[in-house]
Amino acid sequence: MRTQAPLSALRADEGGYVRFECLSCPRTGKVPLATLHERFSLNEGLVNILNMLAREVCAAAKKKEAGQRGCGFCYRDLGRKPNG
Ligand SMILES: [Zn+2]
Repeated sequence: MRTQAPLSALRADEGGYVRFECLSCPRTGKVPLATLHERFSLNEGLVNILNMLAREVCAAAKKKEAGQRGCGFCYRDLGRKPNG
């Protein structure tokens, strides 16, 4: 089983933001990396953080307490390969 990448591995864009998008609803979002660093430990897994954020911002995620299967909220820039 693969370990989650930690928050410390996450990089912000030029503006200092981490960008998110949802694959199953029109939600997009950006959060300053500094805010994530204030809220979460640098060792916190990126998946755990994403789940917490999804519950805050995505209506579909809120309805599914046990998981975010109704929501495709994800790290926009982590999901994309640099060349594709
Ligand atoms: Zn969503």
